[in-house]
Amino acid sequence: MSGQAATQEFFHQGERVGVLTTQPLDRLLDYRAPEGGCFLGAYVEVPLGPRKVIGVVWGAGAGDFDSAKLRSVIRVLDVAPMRQEMRQFLGRAADYTLTPMPAMLRLATRAPGLSDPPSMRKILRRGDKNPDRLTDARTRVLEAIEHYGGLAFTTGELAEMAGVTPSVVKGLVKLGALREEDTPRDVPYPTLDPQLPGKELTQDQADAAGQLAEGVASGAYGTTLLKGVTGSGKTEVYLEAVAACLRKGRQALVLLPEIALTAEFLTRVEARFGARPAEWHSGATMTERRRVWRMVGQGGAQLVVGARSALFLPFRDLGLIIVDEEHDTSYKQDDGVLYNARDMSVLRAAMCSAQVVLASATPSLESWTNAEAGKYTRLDLKSRFGVAVMPEMRAVDMRNEQMQPATWISPTLRQAMRSRLEKGEQSLLFLNRRGFAPVTLCRACGQQVACDHCDARMVEHRFLKRLMCHQCGETKPLPEECPSCHVAGKMAAVGPGIERLGEEAAGVFPEARIAVLSSDLFGSARALKQRIEEIAAGEADIILGTQLVAKGHNFPLLTLVGVIDADLGLQGSDLRAAERTFQLMRQVAGRAGRAERPGQALLQSFQPEHPVIRAILSGDEENFWRAEAAERHAAGVPPFGRMAGIILSGGDVAQVFDLGNTLARNDGPLRQIGAQLFGPAPAPIARIRGRHRVRLLVKAAKGAPIQDAVSRWLAPIRLRGDLRLNVDIDPQNF
Ligand code: ADP
Ligand code: ZN
Repeated sequence: MSGQAATQEFFHQGERVGVLTTQPLDRLLDYRAPEGGCFLGAYVEVPLGPRKVIGVVWGAGAGDFDSAKLRSVIRVLDVAPMRQEMRQFLGRAADYTLTPMPAMLRLATRAPGLSDPPSMRKILRRGDKNPDRLTDARTRVLEAIEHYGGLAFTTGELAEMAGVTPSVVKGLVKLGALREEDTPRDVPYPTLDPQLPGKELTQDQADAAGQLAEGVASGAYGTTLLKGVTGSGKTEVYLEAVAACLRKGRQALVLLPEIALTAEFLTRVEARFGARPAEWHSGATMTERRRVWRMVGQGGAQLVVGARSALFLPFRDLGLIIVDEEHDTSYKQDDGVLYNARDMSVLRAAMCSAQVVLASATPSLESWTNAEAGKYTRLDLKSRFGVAVMPEMRAVDMRNEQMQPATWISPTLRQAMRSRLEKGEQSLLFLNRRGFAPVTLCRACGQQVACDHCDARMVEHRFLKRLMCHQCGETKPLPEECPSCHVAGKMAAVGPGIERLGEEAAGVFPEARIAVLSSDLFGSARALKQRIEEIAAGEADIILGTQLVAKGHNFPLLTLVGVIDADLGLQGSDLRAAERTFQLMRQVAGRAGRAERPGQALLQSFQPEHPVIRAILSGDEENFWRAEAAERHAAGVPPFGRMAGIILSGGDVAQVFDLGNTLARNDGPLRQIGAQLFGPAPAPIARIRGRHRVRLLVKAAKGAPIQDAVSRWLAPIRLRGDLRLNVDIDPQNF
């Protein structure tokens, strides 16, 4: 069913076509081509039982369906047909992630109003008459339309640009100096100009930019790992690759891991190319998303900046994909179709002869290994731009610090913060724990408050005045009495969360302006973005943040980063713990000293001799990666072995385990490829929203056809009742 090259490109009325729909069916449906015929790849509306559904013409009909009963395609939708490379990409992505094609198509058709006819609006053009009397206001309107001759404006837009009232514009229409024209609502995005000069690059930067541009100009597939410390100019460099791509007349896509980073990036694009690109993310309005989807397909958007799902937009001619902060775990979609946008970018680029640039200060071990193996080109930016240098990194040995009970800022860190405060510089305290305290327990019986539906503790959020489950989001009021022993007044908050740290900082530095940055504290991405801008402008002395602050924000006055608990990520048995901690700590530390002022990072740790902490401090990255690679190699885990996770879930734990055991007993297809099977065992989070979760892990050698084996293994399974099965190829946790 997936992407075989079809030979027939057009189907005449009445001919059989095979249509892929978004309905959960395991085959194409046969229909007759509608009046006027349809192209291969056309988006169509088809009848299915009593309903109408959207689909894509995927090939010729299979012909095994009774001709007499064959129904016709209702209509062809008014959007560009899906291109062959896109159909191929969806097919390959489905094969790789073991996702059914209908679910894949759903990802690619997330366009609001896809089936709506294009709506029209009235725009203005210069008419052939000239008004007898030219007032100042009229002149401004005519100049505006002349100046932006190629673009289309409504009455309101034109009036605003010229700084006149709409009545002036309407008057000119009446006189024939302007004429109205109907045009589709989804208009192209303003043209980006790749000829505008960029910043003058350093030698290092220019070399890297030159190589990237050469790759783009070749028009062939290739992936480059662009590695450079925070502030080394990676963004400046890959914007040159974007310029090269635009000059070639092809489209470019920039993926960012976090919506909050978009605004700053859009401003940089505008400064570089003279106009703003299209934006695609969950925060965009329906109208905006509809416009992006359609314009990308028609070539009316040269550059899209967006979240991982932008990868499934129907680009007409995609020549470049940038994956910024490529190591970021948010690129892995964690529900629905489980895909990693970084890996899918490489797949998509290979299908359409595009270049991929993976940018990071701390690459994933996967990408580092691919570069070592010569599969990716590697480019390094060695130093920070200008006078900025990497911060001095030091451990604060918590075993030697005099700590008061229920405090987490050590005297050493406090001292360093005080000196920043005196100099008018900013400090940032990093703690990757949302809420007030991670644990709420009863001092009478010792029981912790847990979520009723998940295998997770309830976290106190003092700002919301409630307890919250970070798995399912459910909240409840702080209990007066213990839910277990019913003793009143004994509930206690244990351990630090970011909100509690805020209180501690406020107590130590009552004169300081303190900003707490945690996603819970902001109603919208816009509010968060605004706060970040205020902080960058110097409107805070002490910033406290969760993971959110590790990503790319630029605070020029920030010269001190304090990591409250550098050991946090090193606990647990996750094989990726070292990699994650290393990346996160280096990223956070990189926030300090981005401008003229040198920075310092202090890592509070109870085990500063731990190899990962030592590697972070020494900054000897290549050695760290080599050691990590050796360990993973020895364990035979990714990227040196292949893995697949199978998550089974359901309301009844015995049933879920039964299914798991059935699978484990019938592992013939796995044994054929020499794969090992682990489990069934409770999944890392054993219960979410009342559903019990059990995991099986398949581990195979690097070259083994794991997808093929897993799909043959799972094929006989029929899911009954509320049982669900999810396949996770290349799981993040193992
Ligand atoms: P990165 O993406 O590696 O963190 P950026 O591209 O954001 O680095 O660069 C960091 C800062 O330095 C930005 O403000 C950027 O505009 C500036 N910068 C980098 N290179 C240059 C250059 N060649 N000329 C002028 N400013 C530069
Ligand atoms: Zn819950």
